Amino acid sequence: MQDSFKHKGLRKQLIEELKADNRITNPAIFDAFFKIPRHFFLDLAFLEQAYSNKAFQIGAGQTISHPITVAFQTQLLDVKKGDKILEIGTGSGFQTCILCELGAKVFSIERQKELYLKAKKIIQDFNFNPRLSFGDGYKGLPTFAPFDKIIVTCGAPDVPQALIDQLKIGGKMVIPVGEGSEQTMKLITKIAENELITEELGTFKFVPMLEQVVK
Ligand code: SAH
Repeated sequence: MQDSFKHKGLRKQLIEELKADNRITNPAIFDAFFKIPRHFFLDLAFLEQAYSNKAFQIGAGQTISHPITVAFQTQLLDVKKGDKILEIGTGSGFQTCILCELGAKVFSIERQKELYLKAKKIIQDFNFNPRLSFGDGYKGLPTFAPFDKIIVTCGAPDVPQALIDQLKIGGKMVIPVGEGSEQTMKLITKIAENELITEELGTFKFVPMLEQVVK
């Protein structure tokens, strides 16, 4: 896929929109949004609109998250170079690449085979090496645990215990929680084995976190 002068211009505009939202303060996030062409992750039909602040269908009834949501979750995670991050819901792979661009070692799980394969192919075009898994994010990835950070990009009915268990002490998890059409963004810090601090940071709309894989 081509990354034209026009696409770069549209990306700059989108970044101005993200800057105008004063919740995003880490300049490395703006740089990552410039480096990762969002249109690579969308179907051809949506190319022209890739840089509007919208969610889009990516297949299998799923959506790529709004840019502002990706930026906000990334901001909350406070990504540091070398962080070991578990992402639940690879979807298009866009968020995965943003985290890789920020220097994280990313492990990402997707429950829809079609999307897992598609994201894998798209991410090959970048010089990143995230570990993509086809599986059920409710279980996390116990073999690779513990993680410095966990990001859930689908709406969970509750915070899965397996994910809390796989978070390092001192680690952070960003997870939208709620069963209806809207979820509350939660930032959870694990301060001791059985002690969490939970902050609530506004309302968002995500596709639901579902159990079991779709082959
Ligand atoms: N981070 C993605 C967001 C995609 S939408 C992006 O940047 O495009 C959320 C994704 O979570 C969907 O692809 C959906 O299939 C996936 N998902 C839902 N429940 C899941 C689960 N239990 N395990 C893994 N992925 C899940």
